[in-house]
Amino acid sequence: MSRPKRGTRGSRTERPSWDADPAGRTDAGFTCVHCARLVPQAALGTSQRNHCPFCLWSAHVDIRPGDRNCLCRSAMEPVALWAAEGGELRVLHRCTGCGVIKPNRLAGDDAEDVIDELVARLVRARGGRER
Ligand SMILES: [Zn+2]
Ligand SMILES: [Zn+2]
Repeated sequence: MSRPKRGTRGSRTERPSWDADPAGRTDAGFTCVHCARLVPQAALGTSQRNHCPFCLWSAHVDIRPGDRNCLCRSAMEPVALWAAEGGELRVLHRCTGCGVIKPNRLAGDDAEDVIDELVARLVRARGGRER
């Protein structure tokens, strides 16, 4: 397992005043926009927790991972999986507000049954179209 690459991180001292997050996100973690569980910031296999490990929903708060500069702030639904180059699995989130789709690295403690359900949903959708 290779560690995720990080770009150079900008200074965190100058924060815009609107950085207060409606999802209750703090440096220690955030409250999930979908299932309302408290999500600790520490994650397995990723440096930046950006979605809930229990239901895989996210929030549209970042333009680049971790910057929290996006003003959309809508909930993002996990809609599909992407087997990225190298075989790494990512979850695709679709914003319920603006419709943008963003790939996100899965964390080591993400709920496997929710991941399985995403796969099953694709299989069902495909089967339904064939018959
Ligand atoms: Zn959740
Ligand atoms: Zn959005």
